[in-house]
Amino acid sequence: MGRIHPPREISEFAAVLGRADKKAFLVGGAVRDYLLGRTVSDFDVATDARPEEVARLYPRVVPTGIKHGTVTVLWKGHKIEVTTFRTEADYSDGRHPDRVAYAATIEEDLGRRDFTMNAMAFDLREELLVDPEGGRADLGRHLIRAVGDPLERFAEDGLRPLRALRFASQLGFEIEEGTLGAIGPTLGRFRLVSAERVRDELLKILLAPGGAFQGPSRGLRLMEKTGMLAIVLPELAACRDVEQKGMHVFDVLDHLYASVDAAPPETALRLAALLHDVGKPESKVEQDGGEISFHRHEEISARMAAAILTRLKLPNALIDEVIHLVRHHMFAYEEGWSDAAVRRFLARVGEDKVEALFALRLADGFGITGLPVDPRSLDPLRRRIEAVLAESHAFGLRDLAVGGAELASIGVPKGPVMGRLLAELLETVLDDPSLNERARLLEIAARLKGKYGIEDH
Ligand code: ATP
Ligand code: MG
Repeated sequence: MGRIHPPREISEFAAVLGRADKKAFLVGGAVRDYLLGRTVSDFDVATDARPEEVARLYPRVVPTGIKHGTVTVLWKGHKIEVTTFRTEADYSDGRHPDRVAYAATIEEDLGRRDFTMNAMAFDLREELLVDPEGGRADLGRHLIRAVGDPLERFAEDGLRPLRALRFASQLGFEIEEGTLGAIGPTLGRFRLVSAERVRDELLKILLAPGGAFQGPSRGLRLMEKTGMLAIVLPELAACRDVEQKGMHVFDVLDHLYASVDAAPPETALRLAALLHDVGKPESKVEQDGGEISFHRHEEISARMAAAILTRLKLPNALIDEVIHLVRHHMFAYEEGWSDAAVRRFLARVGEDKVEALFALRLADGFGITGLPVDPRSLDPLRRRIEAVLAESHAFGLRDLAVGGAELASIGVPKGPVMGRLLAELLETVLDDPSLNERARLLEIAARLKGKYGIEDH
């Protein structure tokens, strides 16, 4: 097991509290991660000093969570979260403790924490591990175990069971039987947890390392098994047992799990892999001959993904990125594509999104057969893209040699008609980039005016 060796600055930080006759313990994730031999960059400290006393002892202190007994000390390049020993009671809304009560000892503080592996402390002055809940032994067994009675602890705070699943997929650990068994009976509490807190854990599950069949899919399968998936992502739960034909060896949900494991560990890509076929149940049509089709499922999936991600309170820029990938995931390149077709593809997808879309395609391909797809299979389209890019970069309205002002000068009124005319000019340029010159486009625009019912003046 790894050694606990905080950097010197953290010991120096603790010495300041020590000179004031106060205690300083490293707590939570840092202790766990040192013992696991992982790198540690977040330092949380527990102390018997009150927040006001901490604030007096250090020159640079931010009152980040003073109501909860936490301040952030800026110290020699670190942001150290310092929290007074706490005990928490009365979780009446299932989300936040109603009030913070300070505790007298570190043991009491550790007793309110979620899992034994998170309930260890390292006395920074004595350099001793404090482990009243048996966290070290559980770490050694790769076991996630609630502190105390799991039913009680999950009923206090409904986020804890999702955290258990998150740690299980991040670390590849098992969840102790009683702890796992307490999830079902306390789902009522879980339903009350805010979307933001669920989102943060879900994103950590999605970024879990581990590769095929043991990355994010471990956490997602546990969510499914315990009933959490149906609460957080009912649209995904509905993909279970939706059978596919052709090359597919999995139903839609297992396909999505495998795809998300295979996608590079970036938030937008993992979310796109998870949701790219979520519209399949809705679009599924089974013909008389047994033929199955999912016509326009990418559009339905994109629409559903937008609704899901909005509900999870993800930032709009990320949502846009994900739905863009989902909407375009069905491209089917063949050698017969003309250069204009390659340019239209680029215009639709965006030059800067092509590699992400390709990564999604490889992940999607893995999810079809459960076997890796040769990344070189995308090289022919890559080469075609390079070739058309060498010739022209005009793939969007802003790349056109004429803009609204020029069109206005030849009598095109601002508004929807101008928009349509510009779109048609872009189509023309995608067909033949050599036409992207001011004079030629104005000439074409003048000819098109009649078609749009614009009077000459
Ligand atoms: P990470 O490395 O992902 O940050 P962490 O264990 O540090 O993992 P945090 O959310 O930063 O997780 O929480 C810090 C510590 O606070 C935890 O290790 C745990 O001791 C305690 N804790 C966090 N959330 C809860 C909770 N919902 N209930 C009880 N204790 C909690
Ligand atoms: Mg942390």
